[in-house]
Amino acid sequence: MAGAGVKKRLFGTNGVRGIVGEDMTPGLALRIGAALGSMRKGKIAVGRDTRTSGPAMASGLMAGLMATGCDVVDTGVLPTPALQYIVRGRFAGGAMVTASHNPPEYNGIKIIDTDGTEMGDEEVVLLEDRLFSNRFELAPWDRVGRQFPAPDLVEEYLAAVPARFPAGTGNGITVVVDPGSGAGCRTTPEILGRMGCRVHTLNAVPDGTFPGRAPEPSPGGLEPLLQMVTATRAAMGLAHDGDADRTVFVDEKGRFIEENREFALVARAMCRERKGVIVMPVSTSRMVEDVAHDAGCTVDYTAVGSIYVARRMMELIAKGTPVVMGGEGNGGLVYPGHQFCRDGAMTAATVVSLVAASGEPLSAMADSLPKYHLIKEKIRVSDPRAIVPGLVRRYTSEKPDLTDGMRLNRDESWALVRASGTEPLLRITVESRKKDVAQDLLAEIMDAVKGTESRAGMP
Ligand code: MG
Repeated sequence: MAGAGVKKRLFGTNGVRGIVGEDMTPGLALRIGAALGSMRKGKIAVGRDTRTSGPAMASGLMAGLMATGCDVVDTGVLPTPALQYIVRGRFAGGAMVTASHNPPEYNGIKIIDTDGTEMGDEEVVLLEDRLFSNRFELAPWDRVGRQFPAPDLVEEYLAAVPARFPAGTGNGITVVVDPGSGAGCRTTPEILGRMGCRVHTLNAVPDGTFPGRAPEPSPGGLEPLLQMVTATRAAMGLAHDGDADRTVFVDEKGRFIEENREFALVARAMCRERKGVIVMPVSTSRMVEDVAHDAGCTVDYTAVGSIYVARRMMELIAKGTPVVMGGEGNGGLVYPGHQFCRDGAMTAATVVSLVAASGEPLSAMADSLPKYHLIKEKIRVSDPRAIVPGLVRRYTSEKPDLTDGMRLNRDESWALVRASGTEPLLRITVESRKKDVAQDLLAEIMDAVKGTESRAGMP
């Protein structure tokens, strides 16, 4: 498994992230740019979300790239999936300055490969090696790279998403879009408008202080969206995270649709259209597996992280296996006919098309999905990586799934225990058709963790 074996020092599952002025600085961005430029010769596209530190970080990154001889195409503010779409097949690579859903004080860098996917673990390790050993191939004066501003390249993405659907798909559908002052301000209202939707907006002025709500589109910050959906009698509301690769929905009654339910809703419709595999991490609700099986499709589980989902989709397709879609239970969905990354505007457009095609309100589509109770819990432990093997031994007779951490599957329930990569804690997810069964399973796993930890602590 790509996720578990390779040891990255700086980059996490979603690139480098840190607090600006502390662990995330233009100096680090410059060194990342110089490391990338030493590995990839040619033109590199650079984009950023709306964070206040974006211009400073992007300038550092571009300086490093140019110093190593790369030409830089500066796309300015745009969503991560828009940059990925633009990079694919045309640039030697890309780099996105974003901290996604993190609070305003954070920023980060995500590296995009020439095929438009996030750079794989093996390449990231090579990049980190260069960075930590300062092995940069600096260009002489007459081969230093040039910088080309290209704020209009985003137009290709604005045209590409509506082109996936018949003209006028959104006619008669009113949507409230809340990009949360993030990069989606530039794209989703325009894309849905081009599809024929009537679009109302909220938090749609780019602003790196995120004055309306936090970049994470969690229900707590979406109250104004819920109210605007009902006040305008819209068919739905939707909100993005800071770089608009994820989308969450509110139905026409003003109710938040939990993200696993959103995934199941889209997966059910797509599995009815064509047969094949749904790819998703082991942390995803069983709801998605249920709807896939009901429609004659299968599921393939990966480690947690959208890059693992995207890469598995590409591997399966390369082997001739039809893949219907992929995604995570956090509003990040991947459409293989479009591109191999989470795409927020594509998810918005897809749900509009589903409502248009079904003639049913979004609430009815969401309510007819199987019901599950999912509980997430964190527990502090001294050495999280030591606990999981102990738990695996304890549950060995139940043959746990070891794709990522330990997943225990029992009839209509499952539990996942994973060690955090950055903090001394274990992340526990349990799910069952019945609430009390889910609670009992959580209690059992917590007890097992404590028992394993106390045994590990004995001399
Ligand atoms: Mg994101």
